[in-house]
Parts: sequence; C-alpha cells; structure tokens
Amino acid sequence: MDMKRVFLKLSGEALAGPKKTGFDEDTVKEVARQVKISVDAGVQVGIVIGGGNFWRGRTSDAIERTKADQIGMLATIMNCIYVSEIFRNAGMKTEVLTPFVCGAVTELFSKDKANRYFEEGKVVFFAGGTGHPYFSTDTGITLRAVEMDADCILLAKSIDGVYDSDPAKNPDAKRYDTISIQEVIDKKLAVVDLTASIMCMEHKMPMAVFDLNEKDSIANAMQGKINGTIVTV
Ligand code: UDP
Repeated sequence: MDMKRVFLKLSGEALAGPKKTGFDEDTVKEVARQVKISVDAGVQVGIVIGGGNFWRGRTSDAIERTKADQIGMLATIMNCIYVSEIFRNAGMKTEVLTPFVCGAVTELFSKDKANRYFEEGKVVFFAGGTGHPYFSTDTGITLRAVEMDADCILLAKSIDGVYDSDPAKNPDAKRYDTISIQEVIDKKLAVVDLTASIMCMEHKMPMAVFDLNEKDSIANAMQGKINGTIVTV
C-alpha cells in the first residue's frame, strides 16, 4: 500500500482511554506523538473521529433519530477540536473541517481547501461525519478518503485485527493477515459498517485494522508496517 496520503479513524471510545467516556489526555498525547513522526516524514494525514465517548444517535428512544444523530455529529466535532488542539500542542499544524457551517468554530469542507491544507503540511480533521443523519463516521471517513484520493484508511481499534469470530467469545478465533472487502461483506465481519464497506469496495479503497494500544502501532501503520489485518479491494 502507498502511504502518501492516509486517513486515520479513531473511535470516540479510544479517546476516553480506561475511563470509557470523555477524554483521556495521555491517550491522545500518545496518538499525537506517533502521528507527528509520520507528518515530519512528509505523510499527509487526515483524521476522522467517532463520537461514542459522548453520544450515539441510535441509543436513545426518547428523542427523534434525526435529532439524536445531530447530537452525535456534534460530539464528533468536540472530539476533533480536542484532538486537534493536542496535536497543535505537540507541534503539528492542523485544521478542522465540517460538512456544515459552525460559525468561527470550524471551516466548511471543500476538496480544494482540504487539498491546500494537506499541501501545507497540515493534519486535516474531517469532523461532523457526512453531515447527515442515519450515517456513521465509518461512512464519513470512507466518503472523505475516496473524495480526497487517499491511499488507504487506517482503523486504530481496541482489537488487533479482523477475526473470523469474536475472540472474546471464541478462544479458537483466527486473525486474518489479509482479507478481501468482498469476504468481509459476505461474512458480515463488520470491519466498518455495511454502507462504508460497500463504498470501499465500489471505489477500491483499502483498509488496515490494528490495535491502537500496541506500542507505536499508528507510526508503524503509517509506514506500511501493519501488525493486524489488511483489507484488500
Ligand atoms: N453520525 C451521523 N452521521 C454521520 C456521522 C455520525 O448521524 O455522518 C452520528 C450518529 O448518531 C452516530 C454518532 O454521530 O451514532 C457518532 O458517530 P460514530 O460513527 O462514532 O457512531 P457509532 O458508529 O459509534 O454509533
């Protein structure tokens, strides 16, 4: 896999560290340290962050789904602003783009603008998902990675790859070194949600899954060294 322009997905829970909710500064500082190694080496890095450390649209029955999803999208923006600031503190230049206007808080996404920022050596945060309810940040990252001609999507997870069954339940579960996106879809392995999987297949966007908590895993992945699973197209 080429690694000139890579998109990294962090789940909201990943930012929360052991607390599982809110932010864990040490966890995010460690992510920043590793991303900086790649940025300093000239890799263009786009970041998408989930919102699960604050809110998930589908978990509330009390309010209408569209509104619940809007809260979820705002949660992803809070996450991006936080991580962007920690990245700046670590010595990187950053921009936070959203698919809808947030006043002076973020900038409105456009491909030209994002390209310009990448060329300036900035880490670009694609916050707010797709901007539409009933989608996820999985679809958000796929959409932006395809649109921005990224080389691949890196999924830093709390598990070290894609397994044929849940290793928490099945001690004999086997990890794939590589697997095709078609097989991921056929076997319902849920690397990313189905909408995002279909889009990756249609637009030939490879992915890699690895353990966020393994030492130097992000820095290694951005150099093409994946200790996990590569999802081929
Ligand atoms: N969300 C949305 N549209 C998007 C991206 C996210 O409505 O394009 C909302 C949705 O409510 C989701 C929440 O934001 O539950 C957090 O996003 P994430 O992808 O972390 O959700 P998860 O898949 O963990 O529920």
